Amino acid sequence: MTTFETAHDVDALQRAARNHLWLHFTRMGGHEPPIIVRGDGCYLEDAHGNRYLDALAGLFSVNLGYGYGEEIGQAALEQMRELPFYTNWSYAHPRAIELAAEVASLAPGDLNRVFFVSGGSEAVEAAWKLARQYYVARHQAKLKAIAVTPTAEPETRHDAIVSEMRRPPTRYKAIARHIAYHGTTMGALSINGIPALRNPFEPLVPEVRHVHNTNRYHRPAGETEEEFTRFLLDDLEQTILSMGPETVCMVHMEPVQNAGGAFVAPAGYWQGVRALCDKYEILLSADEVITGFGRLGHWFASERYDIRPDIVTCAKGLSSSYAAIGAVVTTDRVMEPFLEATSMYSHGITFGGHPVMSAIALKNIEIMKRERIMEHVLGNEDAFRATLEQLLELPIVGDVRGAGYFYAVELVRDKETRATFDDAECETLLRGFLSPRLFEKGLICRADDRGDPVIQISPPLVATQKEFDEMTGILGETLAEAWERVTSKGGTS
Ligand code: PLP
Repeated sequence: MTTFETAHDVDALQRAARNHLWLHFTRMGGHEPPIIVRGDGCYLEDAHGNRYLDALAGLFSVNLGYGYGEEIGQAALEQMRELPFYTNWSYAHPRAIELAAEVASLAPGDLNRVFFVSGGSEAVEAAWKLARQYYVARHQAKLKAIAVTPTAEPETRHDAIVSEMRRPPTRYKAIARHIAYHGTTMGALSINGIPALRNPFEPLVPEVRHVHNTNRYHRPAGETEEEFTRFLLDDLEQTILSMGPETVCMVHMEPVQNAGGAFVAPAGYWQGVRALCDKYEILLSADEVITGFGRLGHWFASERYDIRPDIVTCAKGLSSSYAAIGAVVTTDRVMEPFLEATSMYSHGITFGGHPVMSAIALKNIEIMKRERIMEHVLGNEDAFRATLEQLLELPIVGDVRGAGYFYAVELVRDKETRATFDDAECETLLRGFLSPRLFEKGLICRADDRGDPVIQISPPLVATQKEFDEMTGILGETLAEAWERVTSKGGTS
């Protein structure tokens, strides 16, 4: 039963929020947060009884939508009764084992080992630490192997050990892409390619460099897809070379980059990235915190784009965000040096693989299979895209891009030249007008200007044509109003 039935209760909640609750990434001065009290399917309801179509699925994360609380809650309750908590530090328990086996079976290629964490940032943090320690562990394993390998001449063995020891592993650097978001803990934050998020916390963890992302919209006119791919791969290779290839442990990229607006890679890109990682012996890590578990119609988007990563980070969709759980998934090859008797990955967190979180994730996957969510997304993605593409008729909409249930609409000041809005215009247009207006009209999506200004659209994966029409209708009306403001006032204020 909800406890916020009266206006009086809502006022009290609002007051308590104002006085005590510190919201994430929120300008708190004078902010009166909307209070969301319940959800069902693709819809949310606030404390005043207003309904909203959630075209962002929480934070790109409530993949099943809000309608499975009863069933998933029952699984959580049963696990609470049986074993409310135990740890993955040296111990296992049935739900973590079952979930690891399930995730391994859904992961493409030779991804086979699963290390649980509590969310996306922790997964990225753990991936980088794992990549750094992998080279140390591999070095130690090599030394050990040389020491125990019988050779004809003791001098040969000695020389081999000395030569290996002369090459201490110094691979600690990572490469990511401009404007990409990968989380907020110090390691994950350092990997972020968004200067505004990084700057307040410098100096960051050494050392990350950022390469071009796959934003094609602002590339020179006439550039072919092949030329674009070549440009991106040259940039990556030059960056590896300038950092010193033997110092780089990881290339970390999303299959479709969210921040900046649903950047899909051009043909040949992933094969090229894989080849460069192989050439310089660098681990390739796919950040599937958003793209994993159905957003692109596959359990992992690495399968859709044939990325063949050594490491995958995932979180949000693993439980449809009904639980705080994430994972790092790796190949046997990456785990091998850690299988030595005295070797271990020196990392752990109390809640990694929490049994109740694991039970929830297992139930989420079971429901996704039963409801044929992958087939639903693949079967509807063309219709979804075609519906959103109606927005291209508006003068303010320059581009609609993405795949699966993951799209961005880029806003431009001039469609011909693709000229974008400046910072002040973004402030008044996106923050001042679009975000509140869309919410007022009952649509939750994100107006984002971490790169060029875009509206991000990423609904629950149960959305149908009815929801595509509704969100496109509200977006169309509101963007037309926004253009009116831009043109009638000669600005956006
Ligand atoms: N990686 C990506 C690609 C993300 O989109 C996010 C969050 O949005 C993260 C990592 C961090 O996840 P979390 O917020 O669960 O820490």
